[in-house]
Amino acid sequence: MALRACGFIIFRRSALLPDIEYLLLQTSYGKHHWTPPKGHVDPGEDDLTTALRETKEEAGLGREHLRMIDGFVQELRYEVQGRPKEVLYWLAELRDPGTKVILSSEHQDYRWAPLEEACTMAQYKDMQDTLRSAQKHLELQP
Ligand code: AMP
Repeated sequence: MALRACGFIIFRRSALLPDIEYLLLQTSYGKHHWTPPKGHVDPGEDDLTTALRETKEEAGLGREHLRMIDGFVQELRYEVQGRPKEVLYWLAELRDPGTKVILSSEHQDYRWAPLEEACTMAQYKDMQDTLRSAQKHLELQP
């Protein structure tokens, strides 16, 4: 069976920022790639609960810090050590752009990056496509 993980593309914006910025965390494991907060679904847990729990655990951001964006969810599929993995991402805005991110031991650094920089950091094509479609989705919102 496929591994299943869920998380959030989190962005922030403010009058002081020229662009929307996306939150990426740098793993302290493997090749230290950059990823939005996400993690594995626990037995019996529903996907959105996982996404919220992992975002709290990995970035210190809870539901109270987030404004969830309707109508956006993306699924990525890739293989990890020969095992298929599916990852679902929802989209949420950080309500107060000044809220501090608090990392767990799973990550060694974090960055708020505008779209193009975030795409370069994210490196995987499907993650880049996900970030671009998040941006499009936000641009279409009233
Ligand atoms: P992660 O799923 O982010 O915990 O990463 C587990 C492994 O999968 C690491 O070796 C990553 O480099 C790799 N990985 C992460 N995201 C992707 C992706 N979108 N496509 C292919 N491999 C990925």
